[in-house]
Amino acid sequence: MRHALGQCALHPEVAAVEICTRCGAFACGDCVEFTETVPSQTLCTTCYSRYFSQKASQRAVAGLVLGLVGISTCWLLGIAAWILGQQELEAIERGEAPEKGRNLASGAKWLGLIQLGLTVLAALIAGVAFAAR
Ligand SMILES: [Zn+2]
Ligand SMILES: [Zn+2]
Repeated sequence: MRHALGQCALHPEVAAVEICTRCGAFACGDCVEFTETVPSQTLCTTCYSRYFSQKASQRAVAGLVLGLVGISTCWLLGIAAWILGQQELEAIERGEAPEKGRNLASGAKWLGLIQLGLTVLAALIAGVAFAAR
């Protein structure tokens, strides 16, 4: 049995059923939203709309930029892009980073993986060429 939470922050006449995990505001059944993250977060309407209207985080953008720059210059940058993309995806899953960054982050991760693959391939080719001498 839950303790009485008090009244909804937006509807003073309605009893709250949940507490927002972001701002701690009381929310009634109409105001509460659950994110599809793991674990799911219980957000009030305000935090939920803020969470989904937020721009992609700088880390997501940086990861993608690194991935794109890396593929045309130095593949080692791709490894950094991959790490950034992976970290960002994990943060999005936890609900700590804005959902908008998901595509950017997975883009960064894939660009990074491609470059990682190319690096390994180049090393193998170099190794074979060296062994064949
Ligand atoms: Zn909130
Ligand atoms: Zn309400």
